[in-house]
Amino acid sequence: MQKLNNGNIKLAIQKKGRLSEDSIEFLRKAGLEFESYSKSLFASCRNFPLEILFVRDDDIPDYVETGVVDLGIVGQNLLNELQPKVKKLLNLRFCFCSLCLCVPKDSSISDFYDLNDAKVATSYPNSTKYFLLKNNIKAKVITINGSVEATPVLGIANAIVDLVSTGSTLSANDLKIISKLYDSEAILISNINLLTNKKKNALVNKLLTRFKGVLVAKNYKYVMMNAPEKILPKINKTIPGLKSPTISPLNSKGWISIQSVIKEDVFWETIEKLKKIGATGILVLPVEKLIL
Ligand code: ATP
Ligand code: ZN
Repeated sequence: MQKLNNGNIKLAIQKKGRLSEDSIEFLRKAGLEFESYSKSLFASCRNFPLEILFVRDDDIPDYVETGVVDLGIVGQNLLNELQPKVKKLLNLRFCFCSLCLCVPKDSSISDFYDLNDAKVATSYPNSTKYFLLKNNIKAKVITINGSVEATPVLGIANAIVDLVSTGSTLSANDLKIISKLYDSEAILISNINLLTNKKKNALVNKLLTRFKGVLVAKNYKYVMMNAPEKILPKINKTIPGLKSPTISPLNSKGWISIQSVIKEDVFWETIEKLKKIGATGILVLPVEKLIL
């Protein structure tokens, strides 16, 4: 049987579910090499002193709080619901969803103020009770584990509080959103005492640099293009790059090749401007990692 090497840092991720694939993909993008058979409890990284534990997501906050593992990847929703004493290290920008209050499409309830005396089913009782209390609503909270969306049809509840991402489960069950409690995404958390362990702290910092590199890279695209030399001042203004774009001469006289990075949020705007001022053969590539 494999044994957990105690000198290494331990990271818990979800074994099977909505967080699993994206968590594994994120770690691989950060250059970590490991096996991920769904049957094994943990995997050792081949190229970093890290053990990855595959567990149920609900157990991760507690494992991190009690020091069973040093790090974990969980949804912000679980942190809000369970309020574990852990440190939030990084928003990981995947597994986006929202905790929403929903009612059947034909319900007479159209606002959360109509919920007085109603029954609300949820797997998030603490978040729900806090929301009701904050809005001064007296409704009964029924805690259900799984298939919360079926409770209105079954006559168990008049409304539900559940996680929504695309909304397809809602429409399949003839439900509509009437209020949003909060947004969620995957979060990297750590044990609060981790910083007191010098060796582990140094390793976690190394990991954080890699993780941030993956996150920053997501926001940029790498572009190459050809342009007449005379439009270079205009190009410099349009794409400042990280410092300034890289310029190299082309074989045809008066033409240059330009390489730079463009921020994702202004990507199309910038490409349109570049075309307009005379750039041609614009080639766009994804950025794998970017260390600023
Ligand atoms: P486990 O067996 O590990 O307890 P689970 O059924 O509780 O799994 P999943 O449904 O796989 O968990 O959801 C895991 C996490 O994925 C959620 O806590 C949430 O952060 C995120 N998530 C993203 N979109 C959704 C969604 N539409 N519904 C539920 N969770 C979502
Ligand atoms: Zn769970």
